[in-house]
Amino acid sequence: MIDQVTIEEFKASLRGQLIQPSDEDYNEACKIYNAMIDRRPGMIARCANVADVMAAVNFARENTTLVAIRGGGHNGPGLGTCDEGLVIDLSPIKYTRVDPQARTVQVGGGCTWGDVDHATHAFGLATPSGIVSTTGVGGLTLGGGHGYLTRKYGLTIDNLLAADMVLADGSFVTASAEENKDLFWAIRGGGGNFGVITEFRFRLHPVHTIIGGPTLWHREQTTEVMQWFRDYMEQAPEDLYGFFAILTVPPGPPFPEELYLKKMCGVVWCYTGPETEAEEVFQPIREFGPPAMYGIQPMPYPALQGAFDALYPPGLQWYWKGDFVNELTDEAIALHVKHGYEMPTMHSTMHLYPIDGKTHQVGPDDTPWAYRKAKWSKVIAGVDPDPANTEAISVWAKEYWEALHPHSAGGAYVNFMMEEGEDRVKATYGTNYERLAAIKQKYDPTNIFRVNQNIKPAG
Ligand SMILES: Cc1cc2nc3c(=O)[nH]c(=O)nc-3n(C[C@H](O)[C@H](O)[C@H](O)COP(=O)(O)OP(=O)(O)OC[C@H]3O[C@@H](n4cnc5c(N)ncnc54)[C@H](O)[C@@H]3O)c2cc1C
Repeated sequence: MIDQVTIEEFKASLRGQLIQPSDEDYNEACKIYNAMIDRRPGMIARCANVADVMAAVNFARENTTLVAIRGGGHNGPGLGTCDEGLVIDLSPIKYTRVDPQARTVQVGGGCTWGDVDHATHAFGLATPSGIVSTTGVGGLTLGGGHGYLTRKYGLTIDNLLAADMVLADGSFVTASAEENKDLFWAIRGGGGNFGVITEFRFRLHPVHTIIGGPTLWHREQTTEVMQWFRDYMEQAPEDLYGFFAILTVPPGPPFPEELYLKKMCGVVWCYTGPETEAEEVFQPIREFGPPAMYGIQPMPYPALQGAFDALYPPGLQWYWKGDFVNELTDEAIALHVKHGYEMPTMHSTMHLYPIDGKTHQVGPDDTPWAYRKAKWSKVIAGVDPDPANTEAISVWAKEYWEALHPHSAGGAYVNFMMEEGEDRVKATYGTNYERLAAIKQKYDPTNIFRVNQNIKPAG
């Protein structure tokens, strides 16, 4: 219990709002993206600037309060919030500044990827992120970050140039290749374990209009499509990205009415190469099968990034599990066909994201991302608006995952994990875990930042 005077002093020290259970907007402020998670923090500090973040970290440490850091609030197991403690909500720290000459962007810790893409697109530039615009920059980056631009430009962490951080002792530092190198190494995959990032600086690349969109094939063709996709991506240019999905066709545009609510497989493509070569790249895709829907067309990059936003609004129930995959074998494909189509709800899906290309050009201990040789990052996501289906979506995702796990590389992308225990976190970081634990010991010896895929301080 913290006395009211101390809380009032803390509140008065903030530029942003301090929301408590007695406040009218408390219930709304508690909500995160995954509605399956209902946590009731004692306080939510909506930090307006770095000074607020420093005050919040000092308050938490001095009062031994549990603390969670919230970026975009998209984390599957809800690690951007907690019960009883203090949530450091970064959402008001929302600004971007593009330097078109240097091809960099500075991003406030509370931005979503939609904020970043909007700012950089005006300059014909972008940096690799994910496939949904509402995801927070904070959590996605700190876990690694893979998406449409990954084959060509690497993971999000491979494009991180610097980060401003508030550490557990309340001090403010910058981590980059020149300053606090150990911290800079650790935050490129080690999650929110090392401090609160108040600003990210990313490298940008020339990306404006892309050629992309979905292609769909009938369920009966899944085995052949998966095998063909696996082999095609092996030799496809890095300009081409495509992620594979087993899905139920949403009943609305741009999908043709005759396919509404059909269980099918598909690939969502994003081509960023020369327009003159696009015809050659897309010809095999147009011809294979051929697809029941061929939705590839030129569009602004942010339009593709936002294409799933309406289908997956905040407030759905989510249960997901992931794995890295070295080789997509025929045996694994057969299991995907069996379990994938048992998906219990329209929103549930399985995605297989390629993480080859530029990702493979970085060494396994150059960043905490140990699986530099894995070819795929898989996620099985049970999703539905109705809380009554929580059990069904969770059981499906778990059983599907268990069947495929023996065909995986061992660990999983930290951002596609629920709270699955220390062994899973260790499996993900592999031989990098010990180095992460040593850096954790140096910067956060009492594990103040533990509401995350936690790396325990060494010793
Ligand atoms: C619909 C959807 C699509 C997704 N697609 C992709 C994808 O294509 N590619 C991909 O790589 N991932 C994807 N993800 C996973 C996503 O990367 C994770 O859910 C990530 O944790 C979300 O980050 P956030 O900031 O929104 O989450 P939050 O819940 O706010 O935070 C997640 C974790 O990061 C920490 N954290 C967040 N911000 C900071 C900060 N500034 N400083 C310190 N710690 C911080 C939090 O403490 C917490 O532990 C997707 C998620 C969803 C829900």
